[in-house]
Amino acid sequence: MIAADPGRVLAEVFGYDSFRGEQEAIVRHVIAGGDAVVLMPTGGGKSICYQIPALCREGTGIVLSPLVALMHDQVAALRLVGVRAAALNSAMDPAERQRVAAAYRAGELDVLYLAPERLSAPGTVELLDEGRIALFAIDEAHCVSQWGHDFRPDYLRLGALAERWPEVPRIALTATATPETHREITERLHLERARHFVSSFDRPNIRYRIEPKGQVRKQLIDFIRGEHSGEAGIVYALSRKRVEQTAAALRDAGIDAVAYHAGLPAEERLEAQTRFLREDGVVVVATIAFGMGIDKPDVRFVAHIDLPKSVEGYYQETGRAGRDGLPSEAWMAYGLADVVQQRQFIEGGGGDQAAQASQLRHLNQMLALCESTSCRRVFLLRYFGESREEACGNCDVCLNPPRLWDATVPAQKLLSTIIRTGRERGRTYAAGQHIDVLRGVGSERVTQMRLDELSTWGIGTDLSVQQWRGIVRHLLATGLLESQGEYGVLVPTEAANAVLRGQAEVHMREEVLQRAGGRGARGE
Ligand code: ADP
Ligand code: ZN
Repeated sequence: MIAADPGRVLAEVFGYDSFRGEQEAIVRHVIAGGDAVVLMPTGGGKSICYQIPALCREGTGIVLSPLVALMHDQVAALRLVGVRAAALNSAMDPAERQRVAAAYRAGELDVLYLAPERLSAPGTVELLDEGRIALFAIDEAHCVSQWGHDFRPDYLRLGALAERWPEVPRIALTATATPETHREITERLHLERARHFVSSFDRPNIRYRIEPKGQVRKQLIDFIRGEHSGEAGIVYALSRKRVEQTAAALRDAGIDAVAYHAGLPAEERLEAQTRFLREDGVVVVATIAFGMGIDKPDVRFVAHIDLPKSVEGYYQETGRAGRDGLPSEAWMAYGLADVVQQRQFIEGGGGDQAAQASQLRHLNQMLALCESTSCRRVFLLRYFGESREEACGNCDVCLNPPRLWDATVPAQKLLSTIIRTGRERGRTYAAGQHIDVLRGVGSERVTQMRLDELSTWGIGTDLSVQQWRGIVRHLLATGLLESQGEYGVLVPTEAANAVLRGQAEVHMREEVLQRAGGRGARGE
């Protein structure tokens, strides 16, 4: 199909009156043969950005998409509106693949979905040369980011498309948009000449709420029954076991919940997904295996009962709520145990030091979001490189400002202990040693290094170990301290100087201190 006017294709094929946001500019740019990098939040309408150019340019639009399971849905949806679409992946039998290949060669396809690993399968490149390529669309382009949460090695090979087919326009799309990921996409996919289309990542209809974890199942049930009774939602948990247990607990509480994780039989997963998509008010309890590419407009809430590994992951997952623009909620319960567990997991997980450092940085950012004492949305948008100063009025911090505790003096004590130890003993230490010095606890290590002779010895006996740990964490999360090397030695940053000189204050959520108080009073 070749129709010159993208506006007509939008109306006649997709049934929409007008383009949204940057869609029209993107579509026109790609139709004219330009490369594009598109950063748009989930639900922003990325598909049309390559589907319409595929229809308007001569030849077949090749769409590289990581999720074989979803290709068929996408193909089916396109066929339904009369687009000649097909998919090629390893899950298909040879005869089927032959049929699709023949259709492609004969120029009978508008859109062809390919799994990235297919490109390196024998014969694929030759096949592509036997037809005419309208464009390459690289969906979920953040999968190329090695340190991201969705890294797929096959994506690295997509950089070669630029060399092999230099004249074919390429469009890379993602809903993950830290400046770092953005740069990686551009470099690794060789999109140096691309135009960049960066939409605002704000999702004003989503209300963000993050609360301390107590009895998390009860909290979750209260949240769903109290505020989202009978509504569709997604609950994310980190392990398969927790997914199953939580789904069962929700069912016991009378909530229509289904479990979804990669360890379940394919039929069960499909059934869960189908029920969620077709029926009203189904809650899916899932690992992060669920959700990418799922387009259900009326998801009223996304709940996290475990701490996500990064702010990118959190934002992408919460972005699945409220695609229809109606009020929706992103709710999370987080606990310190989550943080400890994830840190151990990262440190014990092998991987080189740079990768570990990057994972820890992601975790600290996530923590900073949880412990943030100001507007969550401002934090999130800033994280994605958007500056915005005014508080949103639609997050828990804006609606119920947390009680704060002035931690300036303890922070000064901690920072000067670190600096003094470094200066007077010429060595750096991890949090544990500094806390011993502050609390005047003489471990062998401490006396050996004569740390008990420091002037900061015992100046922090008023706080428990746990409370000191809370302060360390807060300073790490807010960028006043850095944790370096495999032992996690603490190093004050440039920004810490202002606190030491009394020019900046440190405020923490009171609840962080209170929760830490009880256990720590007796020691660790
Ligand atoms: P993304 O891939 O960015 O998450 P989709 O391409 O799946 O988003 O689009 C999200 C939803 O918005 C879909 O239901 C889609 O049909 C709808 N949509 C996209 N563009 C438009 C438009 N111009 N007008 C109305 N609805 C649109
Ligand atoms: Zn806010």
